[in-house]
Amino acid sequence: VFDVLVVGGGPAGAASAIYAARKGISTGVLAERFGGQLMDTVGIENFISVKETEGPKLAANLEAHVQDYDVDVMSGFRASELKTLEDGSIEVSVEGGASVRSRSVILATGARWREMNVPGEQEYRGKGVAYCPHCDGPLFKGKSVAVIGGGNSGIEAAIDLAGITQHVTVLEFDSQLRADEVLQRKARSMGNIDIITDAQTTEVNGDGQRVSGLTYTDRNSGESKSIAVAGIFVQIGLVPNTEFLKGGEVALSPRGEIEIDARGETSLPGVFAAGDVTTVPYNQIVIAMGSGATASLSAFDYLIRQSVE
Ligand code: FAD
Repeated sequence: VFDVLVVGGGPAGAASAIYAARKGISTGVLAERFGGQLMDTVGIENFISVKETEGPKLAANLEAHVQDYDVDVMSGFRASELKTLEDGSIEVSVEGGASVRSRSVILATGARWREMNVPGEQEYRGKGVAYCPHCDGPLFKGKSVAVIGGGNSGIEAAIDLAGITQHVTVLEFDSQLRADEVLQRKARSMGNIDIITDAQTTEVNGDGQRVSGLTYTDRNSGESKSIAVAGIFVQIGLVPNTEFLKGGEVALSPRGEIEIDARGETSLPGVFAAGDVTTVPYNQIVIAMGSGATASLSAFDYLIRQSVE
């Protein structure tokens, strides 16, 4: 039985594990893939105090930092269920049948970007196809880009990118934008944003090295059209990795994120959460790490208040 079991080995999970281990309590990390989204990230330029790094390099540093402490890292295991036992401890089961018990749990299973699933998207990922305007926007300075999706995140991305890039085209599948009116007004007031509705993106085009444009179907006329862009920001949603919690004891938001308070507490006593999997509003490495530290300190507070048997 661990004192703290961290589920997830991304920035949030790694920070949680280090903070817990530094309290001298028994700490385990259960992760499907250590490093999380960092393993899919090329350049990182906003990890404060490090001017420039790469995802896999930062992930290796995180793992080395965690391994510097007495932490039991269990990689390659996917959690499939979480439940409270009669003695108040928490059991996390993994696919394949095994289970791990702990007096407290920190959930840090992150999220994944919803993909368009069109030809070219995977091939040009990191070569013009991007998902994070805060991260990759500056790479397209002075160029033309497209944003896929006209919800709040799409229009926010367009406004953000319009200040950096030369021109932004927003493509929305529906006949109207779903973003808040105030964002739409702001976007329409900027001189370099075009909005195309009823547009279904069908292909990412490239020259073999980098993105050169995209093709979409005009859903009104059925016509196939192409535009030339250097970058495509896909903003059609972020999916939290909470499938294993559905219908369970931990409350989720309507979008499936784990609901937490300012201390990282979930609705279930002894269970805390951090990072992209939670209702925390922004999904960034420094934010995930900070919330991991918060959840871990809260777990420690919880443990020292438990009665001694
Ligand atoms: P994640 O990194 O998603 O880690 C989740 C962990 O949980 C992983 O170890 C995963 O294997 C594990 N897991 C998931 N489900 C289960 C399960 N059922 N059982 C066990 N383990 C599970 N942010 C920046 O600040 N700067 C950037 O430049 C930047 N660029 C990015 C580029 C890309 C392409 C992407 C995808 C993201 C980028 N981000 C960037 C965002 C940043 O990577 C995330 O905000 C951050 O990784 C979130 O950390 P996390 O620990 O909450 O989750």
